[in-house]
Amino acid sequence: MTESSILIVEDEPDIAELIRFHVSREGYAARAIGSGRLALEEIDRRPPMLVILDLMLPDVDGLEVCRQLKWKQQTRSIPILIVSAKGEESDIVTGLELGADDYVTKPFSPKVLVARLKNILRRQNEDGDPKSNRYVLAGGDLILDVDRHHVTIRGDVVDFTPTEFGILKCLATRPGFVRTRDQIIASVHGEHTVLSSRTVDVHVTTIRRKLGDLEAMIQTVRGVGYRLGTMFAKTAPSK
Ligand code: CA
Repeated sequence: MTESSILIVEDEPDIAELIRFHVSREGYAARAIGSGRLALEEIDRRPPMLVILDLMLPDVDGLEVCRQLKWKQQTRSIPILIVSAKGEESDIVTGLELGADDYVTKPFSPKVLVARLKNILRRQNEDGDPKSNRYVLAGGDLILDVDRHHVTIRGDVVDFTPTEFGILKCLATRPGFVRTRDQIIASVHGEHTVLSSRTVDVHVTTIRRKLGDLEAMIQTVRGVGYRLGTMFAKTAPSK
């Protein structure tokens, strides 16, 4: 049974308080804890609805906290939002691959942090139908039909190779969230293709080209991977 409060795991009191202030202002109950070891104990006792997790922590570090939470059945489904210093891309990648949902880098905008948090919680509520085999994106301009293995852009069928389709599907299953190259490779694996990080990049280039004016939907997240954007202008942006 998960409690409806947010646990902030952050050893810098000023940052913990900043996060707590903004999260509380959005109407969420929030509490902060300054060590990884204490956080694990606290989560066992009172599982929160979401964990905001700093990676650089005394004693047990953030990645280990993430690993332990995702390893245990009782805590596996608790979403994790990583807060990390810039230049720790490899840790972010590891965290995402361990099962963290999203991340922000320090110094972060509290607005962005709150938006990411809401996105995770909304996403969790929508996950009621994970078997959905049809992804309607960009307000219906882009539709992925997994059963029929086909893609339409504004009603026109566009050909994608099985690998390209697999990559697009991997991103479409979690719009708005970054996927690392290894996560993309793992999800496409078995579609009789061996992919490397570099070939993922090459395929993404091709996918973008085929998407035409929707190409900006696939965003490159430097040092981390790719994300399918959730906000698109229906017409060319004016600015
Ligand atoms: Ca820290």
